[in-house]
Amino acid sequence: YDDRDGKIWMDGKLVDWRDAKVHILTHAMHYASSVFEGERAYGGKIFLSRKHSERLIRSGEMIDMTIPWTVDQIEEAKYEVLKANGLTDAYVRAVAFRGAGEDMGVSSARNPIRLAVAAWEWGSYYGDAKFKGAKLDISKWKRPSPETIPTAAKASGLYMICTISKHAAEAKGCSDALFFDYRGYVAEATGANVFFVKDGEVHTPLPDAILNGLTRQTVIGMLKDRGIAVHERHIMPEEMEGFEQCFLTGSAAEVTPVGEIGPYTFEVGTLTREISDAYEKLVRS
Ligand code: PMP
Repeated sequence: YDDRDGKIWMDGKLVDWRDAKVHILTHAMHYASSVFEGERAYGGKIFLSRKHSERLIRSGEMIDMTIPWTVDQIEEAKYEVLKANGLTDAYVRAVAFRGAGEDMGVSSARNPIRLAVAAWEWGSYYGDAKFKGAKLDISKWKRPSPETIPTAAKASGLYMICTISKHAAEAKGCSDALFFDYRGYVAEATGANVFFVKDGEVHTPLPDAILNGLTRQTVIGMLKDRGIAVHERHIMPEEMEGFEQCFLTGSAAEVTPVGEIGPYTFEVGTLTREISDAYEKLVRS
Protein backbone atom coordinates (compact mmCIF):
# COMPACT_ATOMS: atom_id res chain seq x y z
CA TYR A 1 0.00 0.00 0.00
CA ASP A 2 2.95 2.39 0.27
CA ASP A 3 4.25 2.25 -3.30
CA ARG A 4 1.63 3.76 -5.55
CA ASP A 5 0.59 6.98 -7.25
CA GLY A 6 -1.88 9.27 -5.57
CA LYS A 7 -2.22 11.83 -2.82
CA ILE A 8 -2.64 11.53 0.94
CA TRP A 9 -3.68 14.40 3.21
CA MET A 10 -1.25 14.85 6.10
CA ASP A 11 -1.52 17.55 8.75
CA GLY A 12 -3.23 20.04 6.48
CA LYS A 13 -1.77 19.39 3.05
CA LEU A 14 -1.79 16.85 0.25
CA VAL A 15 1.45 14.96 -0.18
CA ASP A 16 2.47 12.37 -2.74
CA TRP A 17 1.34 8.89 -1.67
CA ARG A 18 4.94 7.60 -1.54
CA ASP A 19 6.03 10.53 0.65
CA ALA A 20 3.32 10.09 3.30
CA LYS A 21 5.83 8.93 5.91
CA VAL A 22 6.42 9.25 9.65
CA HIS A 23 9.55 9.00 11.77
CA ILE A 24 10.33 5.65 13.41
CA LEU A 25 10.18 7.32 16.84
CA THR A 26 6.53 8.21 16.30
CA HIS A 27 4.89 7.65 19.69
CA ALA A 28 1.94 5.77 18.16
CA MET A 29 4.23 3.16 16.63
CA HIS A 30 5.51 2.17 20.06
CA TYR A 31 2.54 2.72 22.35
CA ALA A 32 -0.58 2.47 20.13
CA SER A 33 -1.49 6.14 20.73
CA SER A 34 -3.66 6.19 17.66
CA VAL A 35 -7.34 6.27 16.67
CA PHE A 36 -8.84 5.81 13.24
CA GLU A 37 -11.95 5.66 11.08
CA GLY A 38 -13.01 3.39 8.23
CA GLU A 39 -15.65 4.85 5.94
CA ARG A 40 -17.03 4.32 2.47
CA ALA A 41 -17.85 6.80 -0.25
CA TYR A 42 -20.63 5.85 -2.63
CA GLY A 43 -21.08 7.89 -5.82
CA GLY A 44 -18.86 10.63 -4.39
CA LYS A 45 -20.69 10.90 -1.07
CA ILE A 46 -19.26 9.44 2.15
CA PHE A 47 -21.98 7.59 4.05
CA LEU A 48 -22.44 9.09 7.56
CA SER A 49 -19.32 11.17 6.98
CA ARG A 50 -19.85 13.67 9.81
CA LYS A 51 -20.66 10.90 12.27
CA HIS A 52 -17.33 9.24 11.43
CA SER A 53 -15.45 12.52 11.90
CA GLU A 54 -17.22 13.12 15.22
CA ARG A 55 -16.35 9.60 16.38
CA LEU A 56 -12.71 10.14 15.42
CA ILE A 57 -12.55 13.21 17.64
CA ARG A 58 -14.36 11.39 20.48
CA SER A 59 -12.07 8.36 20.17
CA GLY A 60 -9.11 10.74 20.42
CA GLU A 61 -10.51 12.29 23.58
CA MET A 62 -10.96 8.82 25.10
CA ILE A 63 -7.23 8.15 24.74
CA ASP A 64 -6.18 11.60 25.95
CA MET A 65 -5.56 13.05 22.50
CA THR A 66 -7.10 16.32 21.38
CA ILE A 67 -7.14 16.22 17.61
CA PRO A 68 -6.24 19.75 16.44
CA TRP A 69 -8.85 19.73 13.66
CA THR A 70 -12.59 20.38 13.70
CA VAL A 71 -15.28 18.14 12.21
CA ASP A 72 -15.63 20.62 9.32
CA GLN A 73 -11.91 20.54 8.63
CA ILE A 74 -11.85 16.75 8.70
CA GLU A 75 -14.82 16.69 6.33
CA GLU A 76 -12.97 19.00 3.95
CA ALA A 77 -9.84 16.85 4.13
CA LYS A 78 -11.74 13.66 3.30
CA TYR A 79 -13.41 15.18 0.23
CA GLU A 80 -10.14 16.78 -0.87
CA VAL A 81 -8.53 13.33 -0.80
CA LEU A 82 -11.33 11.75 -2.83
CA LYS A 83 -11.07 14.52 -5.40
CA ALA A 84 -7.26 14.47 -5.59
CA ASN A 85 -7.34 10.73 -6.26
CA GLY A 86 -10.27 10.87 -8.69
CA LEU A 87 -12.33 8.53 -6.48
CA THR A 88 -16.10 8.36 -6.13
CA ASP A 89 -16.52 4.85 -4.72
CA ALA A 90 -13.82 4.25 -2.19
CA TYR A 91 -12.80 3.35 1.31
CA VAL A 92 -11.69 6.36 3.36
CA ARG A 93 -9.21 5.96 6.21
CA ALA A 94 -8.56 8.80 8.65
CA VAL A 95 -5.95 8.19 11.34
CA ALA A 96 -4.96 10.48 14.20
CA PHE A 97 -1.88 9.70 16.23
CA ARG A 98 0.67 11.00 18.66
CA GLY A 99 3.76 11.85 16.65
CA ALA A 100 7.47 12.05 17.32
CA GLY A 101 8.78 15.04 19.21
CA GLU A 102 9.85 16.13 22.64
CA ASP A 103 9.54 12.81 24.44
CA MET A 104 9.93 9.15 23.75
CA GLY A 105 8.51 7.74 26.97
CA VAL A 106 5.05 6.41 27.68
CA SER A 107 4.16 9.95 28.76
CA SER A 108 4.61 12.21 25.75
CA ALA A 109 2.00 14.88 26.27
CA ARG A 110 4.12 17.45 24.43
CA ASN A 111 4.39 15.44 21.21
CA PRO A 112 2.25 16.71 18.32
CA ILE A 113 -1.10 15.08 17.53
CA ARG A 114 -1.11 14.38 13.84
CA LEU A 115 -3.87 13.55 11.38
CA ALA A 116 -3.76 11.82 8.01
CA VAL A 117 -6.48 10.87 5.54
CA ALA A 118 -6.09 8.36 2.71
CA ALA A 119 -8.59 6.79 0.33
CA TRP A 120 -8.47 3.89 -2.08
CA GLU A 121 -10.71 1.50 -3.94
CA TRP A 122 -11.68 -1.43 -1.74
CA GLY A 123 -14.22 -3.94 -3.05
CA SER A 124 -16.25 -6.35 -0.98
CA TYR A 125 -14.56 -6.69 2.44
CA TYR A 126 -15.29 -10.42 2.69
CA GLY A 127 -14.97 -11.19 -1.03
CA ASP A 128 -17.53 -13.71 -2.29
CA ALA A 129 -18.63 -14.44 1.30
CA LYS A 130 -20.86 -11.40 0.71
CA PHE A 131 -23.06 -13.78 -1.34
CA LYS A 132 -22.29 -17.25 0.00
CA GLY A 133 -22.08 -16.41 3.69
CA ALA A 134 -18.82 -15.93 5.57
CA LYS A 135 -17.13 -18.65 7.58
CA LEU A 136 -15.95 -17.41 10.97
CA ASP A 137 -13.52 -18.87 13.46
CA ILE A 138 -14.03 -18.29 17.17
CA SER A 139 -11.12 -16.29 18.58
CA LYS A 140 -9.29 -17.61 21.62
CA TRP A 141 -8.91 -13.95 22.70
CA LYS A 142 -11.65 -12.06 24.52
CA ARG A 143 -12.85 -8.48 24.01
CA PRO A 144 -11.64 -6.68 27.13
CA SER A 145 -13.62 -5.02 29.87
CA PRO A 146 -14.35 -1.28 29.55
CA GLU A 147 -12.45 -1.05 32.84
CA THR A 148 -9.36 -2.44 31.09
CA ILE A 149 -9.30 -0.25 27.97
CA PRO A 150 -11.69 2.35 26.49
CA THR A 151 -13.71 -0.13 24.44
CA ALA A 152 -15.93 2.58 22.96
CA ALA A 153 -12.96 4.19 21.20
CA LYS A 154 -11.97 3.10 17.73
CA ALA A 155 -8.42 2.96 18.98
CA SER A 156 -5.54 1.02 17.42
CA GLY A 157 -4.65 -0.65 20.71
CA LEU A 158 -7.87 -2.64 20.53
CA TYR A 159 -6.86 -4.10 17.16
CA MET A 160 -3.77 -6.00 18.25
CA ILE A 161 -5.86 -9.05 19.19
CA CYS A 162 -7.94 -8.50 16.05
CA THR A 163 -4.93 -8.99 13.79
CA ILE A 164 -3.70 -12.12 15.58
CA SER A 165 -7.24 -13.55 15.71
CA LYS A 166 -7.82 -12.87 12.02
CA HIS A 167 -4.49 -14.44 11.07
CA ALA A 168 -5.41 -17.56 13.05
CA ALA A 169 -8.85 -17.61 11.39
CA GLU A 170 -7.42 -17.28 7.89
CA ALA A 171 -4.94 -20.08 8.57
CA LYS A 172 -8.02 -22.30 9.17
CA GLY A 173 -9.67 -21.17 5.94
CA CYS A 174 -12.07 -18.73 7.63
CA SER A 175 -12.74 -15.14 6.55
CA ASP A 176 -12.75 -13.67 10.03
CA ALA A 177 -12.92 -14.38 13.74
CA LEU A 178 -15.75 -13.80 16.19
CA PHE A 179 -14.83 -12.66 19.68
CA PHE A 180 -16.56 -13.42 22.93
CA ASP A 181 -16.07 -10.78 25.62
CA TYR A 182 -14.39 -10.92 29.02
CA ARG A 183 -17.65 -12.23 30.53
CA GLY A 184 -18.05 -14.93 27.89
CA TYR A 185 -20.84 -13.23 25.91
CA VAL A 186 -20.85 -13.08 22.12
CA ALA A 187 -19.18 -9.77 21.22
CA GLU A 188 -18.12 -8.77 17.68
CA ALA A 189 -15.90 -9.74 14.76
CA THR A 190 -12.47 -8.15 14.22
CA GLY A 191 -13.94 -5.26 12.21
CA ALA A 192 -17.71 -5.69 12.30
CA ASN A 193 -20.72 -6.12 14.60
CA VAL A 194 -22.79 -9.29 14.65
CA PHE A 195 -26.56 -9.92 14.37
CA PHE A 196 -28.65 -13.09 14.62
CA VAL A 197 -32.15 -13.94 13.38
CA LYS A 198 -34.61 -16.35 14.98
CA ASP A 199 -38.38 -16.67 14.48
CA GLY A 200 -38.45 -13.40 12.54
CA GLU A 201 -36.81 -11.44 15.36
CA VAL A 202 -33.30 -10.09 15.61
CA HIS A 203 -30.79 -10.45 18.43
CA THR A 204 -27.54 -8.52 18.73
CA PRO A 205 -25.04 -7.99 21.57
CA LEU A 206 -25.47 -4.98 23.84
CA PRO A 207 -22.77 -2.45 22.99
CA ASP A 208 -21.33 -2.42 26.52
CA ALA A 209 -17.92 -3.88 25.67
CA ILE A 210 -17.80 -3.52 21.88
CA LEU A 211 -17.76 -0.78 19.30
CA ASN A 212 -21.33 0.46 18.82
CA GLY A 213 -20.84 0.58 15.06
CA LEU A 214 -22.48 3.24 12.94
CA THR A 215 -23.64 0.50 10.57
CA ARG A 216 -25.01 -1.43 13.55
CA GLN A 217 -27.05 1.60 14.59
CA THR A 218 -28.23 2.17 10.99
CA VAL A 219 -29.29 -1.47 10.58
CA ILE A 220 -31.15 -1.49 13.91
CA GLY A 221 -33.08 1.56 12.65
CA MET A 222 -33.85 -0.18 9.34
CA LEU A 223 -35.12 -3.29 11.14
CA LYS A 224 -37.31 -1.29 13.50
CA ASP A 225 -38.72 0.72 10.55
CA ARG A 226 -39.82 -2.61 9.11
CA GLY A 227 -41.56 -3.53 12.34
CA ILE A 228 -39.02 -6.22 13.17
CA ALA A 229 -38.25 -6.69 16.88
CA VAL A 230 -34.59 -6.10 17.75
CA HIS A 231 -33.30 -7.46 21.05
CA GLU A 232 -30.05 -5.80 22.16
CA ARG A 233 -28.94 -8.10 24.93
CA HIS A 234 -26.23 -10.34 26.31
CA ILE A 235 -25.98 -13.44 24.13
CA MET A 236 -24.42 -16.69 25.35
CA PRO A 237 -22.34 -18.65 22.79
CA GLU A 238 -24.57 -21.76 23.15
CA GLU A 239 -27.53 -19.71 21.91
CA MET A 240 -25.92 -19.67 18.47
CA GLU A 241 -27.12 -23.28 18.10
CA GLY A 242 -30.71 -22.04 17.87
CA PHE A 243 -30.23 -19.00 15.64
CA GLU A 244 -31.32 -19.40 12.00
CA GLN A 245 -29.46 -16.55 10.31
CA CYS A 246 -26.43 -14.44 11.12
CA PHE A 247 -24.90 -11.37 9.53
CA LEU A 248 -22.12 -8.89 10.15
CA THR A 249 -22.31 -5.12 9.82
CA GLY A 250 -19.59 -2.54 9.35
CA SER A 251 -18.63 0.42 7.20
CA ALA A 252 -16.20 -1.80 5.29
CA ALA A 253 -18.13 -5.07 5.71
CA GLU A 254 -21.52 -3.44 4.93
CA VAL A 255 -24.11 -6.19 5.59
CA THR A 256 -22.44 -9.57 5.06
CA PRO A 257 -24.23 -12.89 5.67
CA VAL A 258 -22.50 -15.48 7.84
CA GLY A 259 -22.80 -19.21 7.06
CA GLU A 260 -20.68 -20.67 9.86
CA ILE A 261 -19.21 -19.66 13.21
CA GLY A 262 -17.06 -22.46 14.63
CA PRO A 263 -19.46 -25.44 15.00
CA TYR A 264 -22.61 -23.37 14.40
CA THR A 265 -24.23 -23.07 10.98
CA PHE A 266 -26.67 -20.52 9.59
CA GLU A 267 -28.68 -20.16 6.40
CA VAL A 268 -28.30 -17.11 4.19
CA GLY A 269 -31.96 -16.25 4.66
CA THR A 270 -34.53 -13.81 3.36
CA LEU A 271 -34.24 -11.24 6.14
CA THR A 272 -30.44 -11.09 5.81
CA ARG A 273 -30.75 -10.64 2.03
CA GLU A 274 -33.43 -8.00 2.45
CA ILE A 275 -31.41 -5.94 4.92
CA SER A 276 -28.23 -6.31 2.87
CA ASP A 277 -30.01 -5.08 -0.28
CA ALA A 278 -31.78 -2.27 1.59
CA TYR A 279 -28.47 -1.11 3.09
CA GLU A 280 -26.94 -1.01 -0.40
CA LYS A 281 -29.84 1.17 -1.57
CA LEU A 282 -29.64 3.43 1.48
CA VAL A 283 -25.93 4.23 1.17
CA ARG A 284 -26.47 5.29 -2.43
CA SER A 285 -29.64 7.30 -1.86
N1 PMP B 1 -16.42 -3.50 15.60
C1 PMP B 1 -15.13 -3.32 15.27
C2 PMP B 1 -14.07 -3.92 16.12
C3 PMP B 1 -14.79 -2.56 14.13
O1 PMP B 1 -13.52 -2.37 13.79
C4 PMP B 1 -15.82 -2.01 13.33
C5 PMP B 1 -15.48 -1.22 12.10
N2 PMP B 1 -15.30 0.14 12.42
C6 PMP B 1 -17.15 -2.22 13.72
C7 PMP B 1 -17.42 -2.97 14.87
C8 PMP B 1 -18.30 -1.64 12.94
O2 PMP B 1 -18.30 -0.24 13.06
P1 PMP B 1 -18.90 0.72 11.94
O3 PMP B 1 -20.22 0.17 11.57
O4 PMP B 1 -18.99 2.04 12.60
O5 PMP B 1 -17.94 0.71 10.81
